[in-house]
Amino acid sequence: MQMADRNGRQTTSPCAACKLLRRRCTETCVLAPFFPQNDPQRFADAHRVFGASNIVKMIEDIPMDKRADGVSSMVYEARARLRDPVYGCAGTVWQLQQQVSKLQSEKAMLQAELLHMHLQQANLAALIMDREQPLSTSFESFSASHNKIFLQGHTSHSPLYKDGSDEQDPHLDACDPLWK
Ligand SMILES: [Zn+2]
Repeated sequence: MQMADRNGRQTTSPCAACKLLRRRCTETCVLAPFFPQNDPQRFADAHRVFGASNIVKMIEDIPMDKRADGVSSMVYEARARLRDPVYGCAGTVWQLQQQVSKLQSEKAMLQAELLHMHLQQANLAALIMDREQPLSTSFESFSASHNKIFLQGHTSHSPLYKDGSDEQDPHLDACDPLWK
């Protein structure tokens, strides 16, 4: 940001890094693009872990087009180290690896369970098919023999009931109705 100092000269407002280091931020400041004024904590965290000169050295070692990602990972690593001074990022990586292996074993268990259920379903379907087969043949033979008897009954005897219905009790015709 351009502004005028007490003598009227144009100066640039310092980036978060230069402000914390209490130094003049120039147009060639290596830190300015990555540590904007509105996020002072970002540089403060990285500075506590790596120190300003190391941050500058590391940034200068990174190709221009990858510097933003490099600084982001530097800040991430610094914050992890502040959270967990012993393991830092390695602790986070270890925790995530544990989580991955736990989820992988859960997945393997669920896959085995699913396979077992599929097999059970297939067995059940096979069992139903096996049961249905003899049932249907016996029903067909039963209905065939039943029809034969029924037809024989009708050819050799007069119908059992006057109206031909087989639902009515034949004795009802012989008895007086219960009411008139
Ligand atoms: Zn600066």
